[in-house]
Amino acid sequence: MQTQTIIKEKIDHILSDAEVENILEEGRRRTRDFALRALEDGKAAQGLTLEELAALAYSDDPEVLAGLRDAAHTIKKQIYGERMVFFAPLYISNFCSNNCLYCGFRHANKGLPRKALTPEEIAEEVRALLRQGHKRLLLVAGEDPRTSGIDYLEKAVAAVYGVRENGASIRRVNVNCAPLSVEDFRRLKATQIGTYQVFQETYHRPTYKRVHPSGMKAHYDWRVTAPDRAMEAGIDDIGVGVLFGLYDWRFEIVALLAHARYLETKYGVGPHTISVPRLEPAEGAPLSTDSPYRLTDDELKKVVSLLRVAVPYTGMILSTREAPELRDELFALGISQTSAGSRTTPGGYAAGDNEELAPTRLAQFTVQDHRSLAEMVRSFVKGEYIPSFCTACYRSGRTGDRFMALAKSGKIHDICQPNALASLKEYLLDYADEETRRAGEELIAASLKALPENLRRTTEKMLARLEAGERDVYL
Ligand code: SAM
Ligand code: SF4
Repeated sequence: MQTQTIIKEKIDHILSDAEVENILEEGRRRTRDFALRALEDGKAAQGLTLEELAALAYSDDPEVLAGLRDAAHTIKKQIYGERMVFFAPLYISNFCSNNCLYCGFRHANKGLPRKALTPEEIAEEVRALLRQGHKRLLLVAGEDPRTSGIDYLEKAVAAVYGVRENGASIRRVNVNCAPLSVEDFRRLKATQIGTYQVFQETYHRPTYKRVHPSGMKAHYDWRVTAPDRAMEAGIDDIGVGVLFGLYDWRFEIVALLAHARYLETKYGVGPHTISVPRLEPAEGAPLSTDSPYRLTDDELKKVVSLLRVAVPYTGMILSTREAPELRDELFALGISQTSAGSRTTPGGYAAGDNEELAPTRLAQFTVQDHRSLAEMVRSFVKGEYIPSFCTACYRSGRTGDRFMALAKSGKIHDICQPNALASLKEYLLDYADEETRRAGEELIAASLKALPENLRRTTEKMLARLEAGERDVYL
């Protein structure tokens, strides 16, 4: 009963469906000039109000659309530079007692063989990922009493951090799992996780109810208040998101921004990251192909641009659900973190291409970008991006509001750029082939030249320490 009262207090501060509809209606009526003015503020990294976001979402005026792309691109360059942080998802279990109509792991998908990795199997996966050069993982699990409970999660995180492979280890574990109680979030924080990630999937209550027919996930309020409980437990890097394609994307982004603003007001810090997964085909999940709200590529590009302008200082994450060409466009519009070489099958990394060991049909949904980490790093260093394996902020205590204050003052650049270059150098020394190494060294040299004198000297010293054999060098 007490829990229900607390939840009620919180959801009263998150917009109701009717309030979101009103804002959308207002946005629909706004003029082209209003939208262009909003973009001017947006371009100066001032963020957007809910009304401005709604107006821009409805506008199909070519000048507004071009201005939006330009603003998103400018902010991306200004705040995140050429850096792109890499991570890998690690699926530890596909057991699930929920029935989300869009997901291959749903309980009713009886044809799916279930697997929950043991700590030893998790360690095997981690070894395979470390051999590729990964340093940052996202643990992902279905919701099932056997595997989504805190006892299993504690063992899983410990198993990841416990692995050493040729001297390397995972330096940051983020977690995407079912919402926990405050007490269990405290235990999760104690395992030294970085970000806790939870997607509301859809903020539209009737749709939420329809697509989550049973199991714990059927409770909208328990899920939408998960970030509150995590914050109360001291986890101040929270990742939120929407599964785009379940309902009207305009409704979703306005509600998502309202949720972000609520967290910012209440806890002094908004979400650390926003993810933009789009509904992909999944075996045994008919809604994954049937939804009338599936987004076109252009709509997804607009969503990414709008979010980039609306919350300039919140990192944006793109997974390998999307095809390579589209991903490359979305990177330029605002994405700051991405996965590479992902497997959504528990045991998929250690199994490699062995279909018998980890059949593709055990996967949660279809992955469209099959480029390996090595291929992506090569294409990044030859192109315009600096691949970053940096995990420094969280380990130096720059989380939550401390991170945001640095980001907003622009000082974070002075930390991120040297750290990104050092982490790239480490990758080049330990994992890259000759071609990537050469292109990567050229990129580092060019990036050094562009740094102010004092930062250049600091970075050169870091690079020299790496050359001399030291590892994990960061500010
Ligand atoms: N079971 C936990 C939960 O639902 O929060 C965490 C893990 S779940 C495997 C991670 C995310 O996968 C979900 O939040 C959902 O957004 C996404 N997902 C599920 N089915 C999908 C599909 N068919 N296409 C794309 N993403 C999907
Ligand atoms: Fe289970 Fe999560 Fe998939 Fe829903 S989205 S069926 S809770 S794994």
